[in-house]
Amino acid sequence: MKIALIAHDKKKEDIIQFVTAYKSVFQQHELFATGTTGKRIMEEVSLTVHRFHSGPLGGDQEIGAMIARGEMDMVLFFRDPLTSQPHEPDVSALIRLSDVYEIPLATNMGTAEVLIQGLKHGYMDWLKLRKKQGEINDKQK
Ligand code: PGA
Repeated sequence: MKIALIAHDKKKEDIIQFVTAYKSVFQQHELFATGTTGKRIMEEVSLTVHRFHSGPLGGDQEIGAMIARGEMDMVLFFRDPLTSQPHEPDVSALIRLSDVYEIPLATNMGTAEVLIQGLKHGYMDWLKLRKKQGEINDKQK
């Protein structure tokens, strides 16, 4: 599974703790992240992460592009709802694209935990099946 990890500045500590707690799960998947979030996860949790630009410099949009190409399976986005972000339009676009392509998206730690527990128990099998069916349909066009 390809998992995107993003945390606004005031939520970075939280995402580090979360990824540390579920390291055994995360290390079985391919991880992607915006610049600073990815750097901190690599340095502090010792996991391999494909890093994009920092969020305000286009990182959210790069992750959005992967979603649009069907290349992302889950997004864990620890948003800070109490601080205004210069790249708010990019944040909204990422959330919108996750909904367009029905990608599981968590915008806080509570939901992220449910998604990771679900992932551990294979609750994303239906999504995988649907993706496979989509690929078959594309080939038949
Ligand atoms: P960052 O970006 O990981 O580079 O800080 C996150 C964001 O603010 O969208």
